[in-house]
Parts: sequence; structure tokens; C-alpha cells
Amino acid sequence: MYYDHIQISKINDYIFCPRSLYFHSVYENFDKGQYKAKPQIAGIIAHKTIDTNKFSSRKNILQGTEVFSEKYGIIGKIDIYDKDKKELIERKRAIKKIYDGYLFQLYAQKLCLEEIGYKVDKMKLYSLTDNKVYPINLSKEQLKKFNNTLKAIRDFDLTVSKCADANKCNNCIYHELCRK
Ligand code: SF4
Repeated sequence: MYYDHIQISKINDYIFCPRSLYFHSVYENFDKGQYKAKPQIAGIIAHKTIDTNKFSSRKNILQGTEVFSEKYGIIGKIDIYDKDKKELIERKRAIKKIYDGYLFQLYAQKLCLEEIGYKVDKMKLYSLTDNKVYPINLSKEQLKKFNNTLKAIRDFDLTVSKCADANKCNNCIYHELCRK
């Protein structure tokens, strides 16, 4: 049993840069307008229709529902789950590349849903700005990679972790806050 459930949204942060996880945790209770960069604000707005339950009122759709998994020690919200189609969808503002962080968010949601009895036969990423859909599968290798990432997050030590590469740092919303 885990006493420190990892937030699903933080898995993506960790993959971008382990140090950003620390800043995410420190600043998550602040007014978002104070420290979020423009692309992140846009991403939050893209999800707002889901968080405020405006996407659909159909009974077969779960949206913005909180889920957790005892087995994997993770907690968070699903984006959209269609009970009839057994389909899980994660919407992003604009998908230019399918990062592991996007995949892991979907995997985490799927594992949480399945633990509480919902079957997930299909997963997809949906890019809002260009209306593109990317089907996603979870292989054994990917599940192993996902598990290793959860372990790395639990073992992470900010004091010994190295800085990410310069390109990442230049595009990072925590650039000004992070001591390189
Ligand atoms: S500025 Fe660089 S090292 Fe610091 S959190 Fe961002 S990516 Fe990581």
C-alpha cells in the first residue's frame, strides 16, 4: 500500500524535468495567473470544459472524474471516458509530438479506471487545435517503463538531481525560479 499517492498530472512534469516536479508542488496552491506561462494557460483553458462538466451531460460519459489506484499509488482525474465504447480520451490543446508524459497520463487513467471496474478497450489522444486523433496502446514494455517512472518519482532527490538540458530550461515556465 502507498501512503504518498502520485498525482497523475505530475508524471508529465517529472518526465519533462525532475526538478520541475518540485516547483509544481511548491507553486500549485498559488494563483495560477501568477506563474503559468502562456502555453500552459491555454492548456488549462482547453481542459476547463471538462473540469466544469460542460463537455457532455450524457450518462455514458465520465468526465473530469477523480480516480485513484491503490496498486500503483496514483491519483488524479480522467479526461473523458465513454462507458459504451469503453474508450478513454485525453485532450490536449495542440499535439506536435507524442511525448511519454502524454502516454503515461493515459496509462495512469486507464489503470485507475480498471481498478474500479471500468474496462478500457481503446485509448486516444486528441489534439484540439488541428482536430487530430492518435490511437494509443499499452504494451508490456510500456507498462514496465511506466512503473519505472513511478519508482523514479518516489526515489527522486532534488539535492542530487542534475539540471535538465539548456533548451528545456529556456522553454521552462520555472526558468526564473530554478537555481541551475
Ligand atoms: S529551469 Fe531547467 S532544471 Fe529548472 S525546472 Fe526547468 S527544465 Fe528543470
